[in-house]
Amino acid sequence: MFVVNPLDIAVEIKGVSHSFEGALGQAGAELMALSTTDLAIRRGELLSLIGPSGCGKSTLLNMMGGLLTPTSGEVRVNGAIVTAPMPKTVSFVFQENALFPWNTILDNIVVALTFQNVPSGERLDVAHQALKAVGLSEFAQYYPDQLSGGMRQRAALARALSLKTDIILMDEPFAALDEQTRMVLGEDLSTLLNQTGKTIVLVTHSLGEAVFLSDRIAVISARPGRVLEVIEVGEPHPRHPEFVTSGKFAELRNRLYALLHDEIRQTLSTQAMGIPSAGLQSAAGSSRHD
Ligand code: ADP
Ligand code: MG
Repeated sequence: MFVVNPLDIAVEIKGVSHSFEGALGQAGAELMALSTTDLAIRRGELLSLIGPSGCGKSTLLNMMGGLLTPTSGEVRVNGAIVTAPMPKTVSFVFQENALFPWNTILDNIVVALTFQNVPSGERLDVAHQALKAVGLSEFAQYYPDQLSGGMRQRAALARALSLKTDIILMDEPFAALDEQTRMVLGEDLSTLLNQTGKTIVLVTHSLGEAVFLSDRIAVISARPGRVLEVIEVGEPHPRHPEFVTSGKFAELRNRLYALLHDEIRQTLSTQAMGIPSAGLQSAAGSSRHD
C-alpha cells in the first residue's frame, strides 16, 4: 500500500464535523453542514472538493483556513492545530475577488506583500513578476473596475500566488466567469502551479475543471457532507488542452458524474418537497449527532 509520510501532509482533517446554530432562523435549531470527515492534503498537490450545492465545501475550506472552528475533531496545518487564520501560511481566493477598488492591481499586490512583511525593496519586483505570470503586465496601473471579470480574477490569482504562503485555499474562484475564460485561466493555473510547488485546495462545482486541474478530487456527499471517495487523476502538470479531449479525461469525468448524480438528485428532491433536510434538527431534541 502507498503510505504518505506525515511530513508530506500540508493539511490534515481528522474526524471533523461542523454544525451551524440557529440555522434557518429557528432558535435552537442546528444544521449539520459537515459530518465526521477525514482528509489529508499532500504538500504540493492540488486537491479539489466537489459536491452538490450546500454540502459543506465552503464550510470545510473555511475550517482549513481558520475562519471557522470545527464543532468536533481537529484541523492541522503543517502539523499544528488550527485555531485562527494564518496569513503567513494560508491565503484565500474567493469567487468575488477582494481587490481594493481604490488601488491599481499592482498596488493591490504591493499592499498584500506589505502585510506579509516582505521587505519594501522587493515588493515592486515581486508584484510585477506576479502580474507577468498571469499575463497582466500591461494592465499593472489599471484599477479593478477598469478590467473585465476574468482579468480581475487573474489579478486576484496573481496576488495569492505572489504571497509567500505555502497553502492557497480557493473557493469557486472561476465560478463567475464564462466558460472560455475559465478554460484559459485553468490552463494558466496549471502552468503556474507547476512552477510554484504550492499546496492548493480548490472548491469547484465544475466536473471538467476538477479533472483538468486536480491531482486528486475529493467527492463530497449531499449534506451533511462527508467524503464519498477520493479520485487520483494521475496526469502530470502543466496540463494541456489536449488532455480535455483524451479518453482518460472522459473516463474520470464520467466517474465523477456517476458519483455525484445520486447526491444531487437527493439534494434536489429534499428541497422540492420542503422536507427538513438531513442534518437539521432541534438542539433540544435527543437525536443530535455527536
Ligand atoms: P457549499 O459550499 O458546499 O455550497 P456551505 O459549506 O456554504 O456549502 O454550506 C453548507 C450548509 O451550511 C448549507 O446548508 C448552508 O446553508 C449552511 N450554512 C452555511 N453557512 C451558514 C451559516 N453561517 N449559518 C447557518 N447555516 C449556514
Ligand atoms: Mg460554497
